[in-house]
Parts: sequence; structure tokens; C-alpha cells
Amino acid sequence: MAPPDAPPSRPVALVTGGGTGLGLAIAGVLADDGYDLVLASRSDEHLQAGADRLRGRGARVLTSPLDVRLPEQVDRTIDAVRSEYGRLDVLVNNAAGNFAAPAERISPNGWRAVVGIVLDGTFYCSRAAFPMLRAAPAPSIVNLVASYAWTAGPGTAHSAAAKAGVVALTRTLAVEWARYGIRVNAVSPGPVRTEGTDRQLWVSEAVVKAVTDGVPMGRFGTPSEIAEAVRFLASPRASYITGEVLSVDGGQWLGKGALRLLEAIAPDPSASAPPAAGGGQRNSGA
Ligand code: NAP
Repeated sequence: MAPPDAPPSRPVALVTGGGTGLGLAIAGVLADDGYDLVLASRSDEHLQAGADRLRGRGARVLTSPLDVRLPEQVDRTIDAVRSEYGRLDVLVNNAAGNFAAPAERISPNGWRAVVGIVLDGTFYCSRAAFPMLRAAPAPSIVNLVASYAWTAGPGTAHSAAAKAGVVALTRTLAVEWARYGIRVNAVSPGPVRTEGTDRQLWVSEAVVKAVTDGVPMGRFGTPSEIAEAVRFLASPRASYITGEVLSVDGGQWLGKGALRLLEAIAPDPSASAPPAAGGGQRNSGA
């Protein structure tokens, strides 16, 4: 037990896949909010590069290499968090794998890889984190999902099925763990250009154009726009929100309507132009 005059310890957030992309942007805003951090993913190179950037912003960072598909590695990471920090307040299940392929060409191995990272990994991390979260003063979990979990994900059947499972898990854990004070929510990003998605999904200018055409706001999102939503849901400002999925997608999941009538009508020339990325504000993503 800490001596009575010991300073209170800082809250701790674990971000899976926190060394790159959206995970790093999320870790960055949590660091700004005073969290000590744990970054966990397979590649030590990703973890060290991410940790260096966060330490440059004044954060204390523990890195823990793991594959979220392997429960014993997840347990080892949670043990490391316990011995390094002694507490865990926020878990962000952000790690994912994805690749584009028609369903009939997804091999059983490809299927198992994506479902294993996204769905099994989210469950294993949540389950292992539960005892420390339960002991925290205002614990929460935020899962990263995608709108094709409830619309359709042609070209990513594995990821769509896995993310649908994560949405169901989000709502189920929200109800089960409400009695322990643990809030469980999800953020559903629209398309955002990251190293991972540029390599696996937005593989040509034609794809980029098709994707932006499908977003009513007509553009990709930024990592900081996604991170701000995670920051809110993780914080005490969202203290009465649980089991919710917050779409941060420029209206993508709504599409352009079944009849797409507006597309034949020219915009009002007197109306102002749509806002640029970040609503015209500075992009503060990590
Ligand atoms: P990303 O760039 O592909 O990053 C994925 C992260 O997951 C990497 O840091 C990777 O690190 C980690 N990871 C992959 N396999 C892992 C495993 N088996 N065990 C542990 N960590 C693993 O993805 P992103 O674009 O930043 O997306 C972040 C989240 O947002 C994902 O859940 C994604 O599905 C969701 N999302 C993204 C978009 C988008 O347009 N970017 C849209 C909708 C939803 P290592 O390589 O070091 O393991």
C-alpha cells in the first residue's frame, strides 16, 4: 500500500496497436489528458517509434510486445501493467488486421487472422483487463469498430463479421460490467488514411475517389478527429454513456440516400464551401 503522503498515481491507459495510425493518435490525446500509457502490439519497432513520439510530449510509456490473438501474451502484458503502474483505468481495443478480397477468395487462414485479431483480441484484452479496471475509480473501455458491422462490408467480409461481433461485445459488456462501474463504448471511424489502410485498403487513386465519393462530407477523416471521440468516451465527461457506438465518419454510414436525388441538383452557389479536415482547426494528431 502507498504511504499516506504519497502523491496520487496518474491514470493509466492501454492502447492496443498504439504504436501506429489511429492508435498512436489516440495515445497522444490521452497523454495530453495526463494518462500514463501502455502501447501493445506485435512489432517492437512500431512500439518504440510510437513511444519515442509520446515521450517527446512528456508522457510516461510502457511498451509491451504481444499478439492479441494469444491469450497468454495478453495476460503477460496485463501482468506487466500491474507491476509497472499498479493500475489500469482505460483500455482502447484498437489493434486490427484487414485486407481487401471478395469473400470467395478469403482463405480460412486469412479469415482466422482477421477475426482472431479483431474479435478474439478484443475479448481477450477486455477479459484480462477486467480485474484492474474493476478496481479503478472511473474505468472504461473504448473499442474501434467500423460501420460495415451493421451495413455491409463487400470486399472485407472477415472484418465486417468481426467488427459486428465487437459491436455486440461492446453492448453486452456494457450491460454486464455496469455493476462494476466499467463503461464500454465504441467509436466507428469513417475512412482515414493511415500507413495500414494505405497499404491494405486505399490501394489506388480509383479506390480513394470511390471512397470519398461515398462520404457525404466528401473527404477522408483525420487521426485526430477519431482520437477526439475516443478521448471523450474514455473521459469522465461521458460518465453516463455506456454501450454506445459513436460514428465519426463524415456521414459515411448514412450514404447518399436510397434514391440519391440530390446528386442531380447543383449546389446552391450562394452557400459556403464544406469545412476542411479538422473543421478548419489545427490537426493535433500524434
Ligand atoms: P493500422 O494502421 O492497420 O494499425 C493496426 C495496428 O494494430 C498496428 O499498430 C498493428 O501493430 C496492430 N496489430 C495488428 N495485428 C496485431 C496483433 N495480432 N496483435 C497486436 N497488435 C496488432 O490501423 P488503423 O488504420 O490505425 O486503424 C485503427 C483501428 O481503427 C482498427 O481497429 C481499424 O479497424 C479501425 N478503423 C480504421 C479505419 C481507417 O480508415 N483507418 C476505418 C474504420 C475503422 P503491429 O504491426 O506492431 O502488430
